[in-house]
Amino acid sequence: MIIILEPDLAEHRAAVSAIRAVAERYPGVTVKPYEFRGTSHRVTEVHLLGSTGAVPVAAFEGLPGVRQVVRVSAKYRLIGRHDPAHETVGFEHNGVRIDDRSVHLFAGLCAVDTPAHVDAMMAALAREGIVTTRMGAYKPRSSPYDFQGLGKECLPWVFETAGRHGIRLIAMETTDASHLDEIWQALERAGHPTAVMVQIGTRNAQNYELLKQIGRQQEFPVLFKRGMGITLEESLNACEYVASEGNPRIMFCLRGVKSHLGEPHRNLVDFAHVPVVRRQTRLPVCVDPSHSVGSSSRAPDGLPDIFHAAGQGIVAGASAVLVDFHPHPERALCDGAQALTLDMLGPLVEHVQRVRAAYEASVAAIASGSQPAQASA
Ligand code: PEP
Ligand code: MN
Repeated sequence: MIIILEPDLAEHRAAVSAIRAVAERYPGVTVKPYEFRGTSHRVTEVHLLGSTGAVPVAAFEGLPGVRQVVRVSAKYRLIGRHDPAHETVGFEHNGVRIDDRSVHLFAGLCAVDTPAHVDAMMAALAREGIVTTRMGAYKPRSSPYDFQGLGKECLPWVFETAGRHGIRLIAMETTDASHLDEIWQALERAGHPTAVMVQIGTRNAQNYELLKQIGRQQEFPVLFKRGMGITLEESLNACEYVASEGNPRIMFCLRGVKSHLGEPHRNLVDFAHVPVVRRQTRLPVCVDPSHSVGSSSRAPDGLPDIFHAAGQGIVAGASAVLVDFHPHPERALCDGAQALTLDMLGPLVEHVQRVRAAYEASVAAIASGSQPAQASA
C-alpha cells in the first residue's frame, strides 16, 4: 500500500509519524517513507510493506496531509506510475534537469583514451552549448585482452577538462561498487568542477549486489541500461532494486537487444519500448542508438543509421540520447566502428531538435483533439 502525501507538505514528518502510529496496529507491516523531488514539487510517499492485505485503505484516508492511498498490485512500487496526474518524472543533478520535457544529448567517448581526445570532444560539445556527455573510464569488455579502460587514473584530467568546458554531467559506467568511491574522491579532489551520473551497463543489468550498492548511495543519479538478453520486465525490476535501496533518481536506457535478427546491426533496435517504459514507470527514458546499431554506416539518404535510430527513439518519446563520438574513430580503443566524427555533432543536434519538434507537435495535436495540419489538408 502506498500513502501519497500532499505535495510540498510542510508538516510531512508529522504526517509520516501519524501514518506510522496507525500502521503499527497491524502486525507484520513495516513503514518506509520515500521522497521524490520534481522540478517544482516535493512529494513524500509512505510505503507499507509486508502483510498489508488486512490493512484497510480507510485507516489512512482521513489522516492530515494524506492526499491519496493506493493499494498497489503493481510490481514496480517505486518506479511505477500510481498517480499519473501528480507524479513527476525525473530529477535534477548539478543544474541539469533530466525529465520528459526536453531532450539531452549525452554525446562523448565510449572509452576515455587520451587527454587530447577528451579535450577535443568536450570543446565540440561546448561549441554546441551542450553540457552533458558520456565518458567511459571503466570498460566491461567481452575479451580480457581488449582495452579495459583507463580506470581511476584518468578521472582527474577528465573532470578538470569537463569543468573547463562547462560540462555539468558525465554519464560514466561503473562495473564495481568501489568505482563509486573512486569517482567521488576524484570529484572531491578536483573541487567538483562537474558531476557524474553512474551508468549500469547492459552486462550488469542483473548484478543484484551492484544494483543494491548503487541504490544505497545518494550522491550519483543512475543511468540504467536495459539488459541485452532479458525481458523488459526483468530490466525494470532491476531498476526497482536500485530504487528500493533508496535511490529513485534513475534514467532508463534502451540500447537494443541481442539477436541475430538485428543483423547487420549490432543489436535489434528496441525503441518501440519507449512508450511502454513511460507508461509503466515514471523514469525518464534514454535511447542509445550507437550500441544498438553498432556502426557509423550511412543510408542512401545521407543520414547515418545512428541518426535514424536516434530519431526513432525521440519520435517515440525518449528524452535523452546516449551516443558515441570520437575525434579519430580509427584510433579509438573501444567501439570505433560506431563512433561518429566530431563534424557530425552539429548535424546530430539539429536532427534531434527537428525530430523532437515533430514529436511535440504530434502530442499537442492529439491533446487538442485536432488533426495534424498536413493530415487534415
Ligand atoms: C556503454 O554505453 O559504454 C556500454 C558498454 O553500453 P552497454 O552496456 O549498453 O553495452
Ligand atoms: Mn561501447
